[in-house]
Amino acid sequence: MSESPSRRDFLRMVSLAGAAVALHPRALPFSPTFTVNDMKLTFAPYTLELKHTFTIATSSRTTTPDMMVQVEKDGIIGYGEASMPPYLGESQDTATAFLSRVDLTGFPDPFEFETVLASVDAIAPGNPAAKAAVDIALHDWVGKKMGQPWFRIWGLDPKKTPVTSFTIGIDTPEVVRQKTIEADIYKVLKVKLGRDTDKMMITTIREVTDKPISVDVNQGWKDKSFALAMIEWLATKNILFVEQPMPKEQVDDIAWLRERSPLPLIGDESVQRLPDVRKAWGVYDGVNIKLMKCTGMREAHKMITLARALDMKVMIGCMTETSCAISAAAQLSPLVDWADLDGAVLIKNDLFDGATIVDGKVTLWEKPGIGVTKK
Ligand code: MG
Repeated sequence: MSESPSRRDFLRMVSLAGAAVALHPRALPFSPTFTVNDMKLTFAPYTLELKHTFTIATSSRTTTPDMMVQVEKDGIIGYGEASMPPYLGESQDTATAFLSRVDLTGFPDPFEFETVLASVDAIAPGNPAAKAAVDIALHDWVGKKMGQPWFRIWGLDPKKTPVTSFTIGIDTPEVVRQKTIEADIYKVLKVKLGRDTDKMMITTIREVTDKPISVDVNQGWKDKSFALAMIEWLATKNILFVEQPMPKEQVDDIAWLRERSPLPLIGDESVQRLPDVRKAWGVYDGVNIKLMKCTGMREAHKMITLARALDMKVMIGCMTETSCAISAAAQLSPLVDWADLDGAVLIKNDLFDGATIVDGKVTLWEKPGIGVTKK
């Protein structure tokens, strides 16, 4: 029996539609890419050795406890890291306890960050650096699986990375002078204040260079009138902004200070995670976001978005870290006003090659994921 023209046309249409679906598989209803997830997470303690003794308003040290994390699946390794300066409360023991409870095999698709990372976050309160290590490793793995660096996945222009500041800790005039000379390639210096040597620190640096300085008081000034007098003095010294001038609990004093301050005030210790950005509005002019405080790249991206919506300045900072966590933060840096991403430059035993600082500017490379390779 011969087919009627209409039946022939119908069959042709059906087979063409089938071919179209075959050519465009993404037109199909979504089905998970990974039905069984055998993603393996491993971790090992590591100690960062600092080039110089590092002193801030509240402490002094020569090493930083760290934890290196890897996720592995399909022959791809994603790298992550938790840097844990002791005064922040995490340690290699707390990170070990936390990471031992992370099981990524329960999630069918590692691309589903929202679900996976919310679940990791819910394992226990706190532990922001340990959580960041998992977040960074997952981002690295997903970026490598996609074959793209995160700045590209986020749609950012790598040429828009900011200059990064170089941090000078509290020290004797001789050491401060020497560090200022060593920081020659940096366009901005970040100076730690908050002890009784504050004016000495600034005048010593000003004997060497007139480049812009940002200052970080690390909550060191306890009295608002004293803080205002200091900021008025600093405003005559080519200072960009003042980070965390007073203890984070003194919210009303900081808001009082901000109304009178000739320099922008940036919250750091006051701003840990996403809800803190909303609380910082009206108290600070901007926020300092760090992966180790906020649980990683995903939350940092949300914090930047919220801060921008609130018309606030954004700085991205770091702890002493290897190029792993620094490169992860650098992926976000085209979105911010100021970067303080010198953490890997301050250590002697970096394990990675990643984002670098070229002529004082954060520089991203066309490497997938967070953009690192192991040395
Ligand atoms: Mg700070």
